[in-house]
Amino acid sequence: MASYKILLLPGDGIGPEVAHEAEKVLAWFGRAGLGTFETETDLVGGAAIDAHGVPLTEAALGLAKAADAVLFGAVGGPKWAGVPYAVRPEAGLLRLRKDLGLFANLRPAICYPALAAASSLKPELVEGLDLMIVRELTGGVYFGEPKEIVTLEDGQRRAVDTQIYTTGEIERIAAVAFDLARKRRNKVASAEKHNVMKSGVLWKDVVTRLHAEHYADVGLEHVLADNCAMQLVRNPKQYDVVVTDNLFGDILSDVAAMLTGSLGMLPSASLGAVENGTRRALYEPVHGSAPDIAGQNAANPLAMIGSLAMALRYSFGLSDAADRLDAAITRTLAGGTRTRDIAGTGVNAVGTGEMGDAIIREL
Ligand code: ATP
Ligand code: MG
Repeated sequence: MASYKILLLPGDGIGPEVAHEAEKVLAWFGRAGLGTFETETDLVGGAAIDAHGVPLTEAALGLAKAADAVLFGAVGGPKWAGVPYAVRPEAGLLRLRKDLGLFANLRPAICYPALAAASSLKPELVEGLDLMIVRELTGGVYFGEPKEIVTLEDGQRRAVDTQIYTTGEIERIAAVAFDLARKRRNKVASAEKHNVMKSGVLWKDVVTRLHAEHYADVGLEHVLADNCAMQLVRNPKQYDVVVTDNLFGDILSDVAAMLTGSLGMLPSASLGAVENGTRRALYEPVHGSAPDIAGQNAANPLAMIGSLAMALRYSFGLSDAADRLDAAITRTLAGGTRTRDIAGTGVNAVGTGEMGDAIIREL
């Protein structure tokens, strides 16, 4: 039986509560004989600051590098609001992204039939929605230099951010999108703004060339990022995989998120380069540490459990197990089991632990 090494970094707030449910599900898969899952757990974020004075220790980073996948909960909270920028809880996650080279952020937007009414759109526009936003995560305008605010001679201040992309950066993110599409509905939409940005011209050019040379069997459409935002709220089901840069991806993935209902439902994967046949990867819910509901057994663990399903699929190659877990989530929701965030009025909500138990029952 294949063996997989997983590092659990539960973090702060509801992070440990939802990570515990994912661990229960993982243990179930182990008992069911799908693999040997060796888990280690370490601190990250505020919890690591309290214990070690830094949001991520070198030891934890070493464990992350040695693991086949990292399952990350959430970090931060009011307790650490005053700590210096360089050692704030979020810096732990940024360090992991940087040191693991996690350049591809995958955010699925799946609309479960039972929750279609909770969407920001009309139910018929989102029922059956299953799209994947692939966002470039380590380049672009959030990181380009120069990045500064300077005071001019006339006393005005001028802010500069710089958007930079190289062919290599564009190729590797586009390849992730094309590979994913082949396992889905075989369609990629590439979003940029070549009409007003040089980086858009290069983006479109590189994606077009990579497609012609290696992925001609995949459907490819180029779309201006602003039009893509409009299409996402007009008719989101036209898309399968949307690939885009860091800034546009930040915005488009949040738009896609609200098509599906609660933050508590949204998983994500961040993938790095392939080294020695394995791809570095970190899986985390899209939501934060939600200090307002921490410690109340009220958090929805499905974003975290869905992130585990992505780990099964993308890091361990266990797509049958991933399908099974996704189906268990769908059936659990169809059966009416709801945490408070998705319960609506007049429905009895279950707690975090009960939702995890319900998923395991369905499995
Ligand atoms: P961060 O800055 O870490 O992203 P945030 O303030 O943007 O945090 P969250 O911590 O994600 O946002 O919480 C936003 C709101 O959504 C909160 O009111 C929280 O209670 C709710 N929420 C977030 N995640 C969940 C969840 N898993 N289950 C239920 N409610 C949630
Ligand atoms: Mg947030």
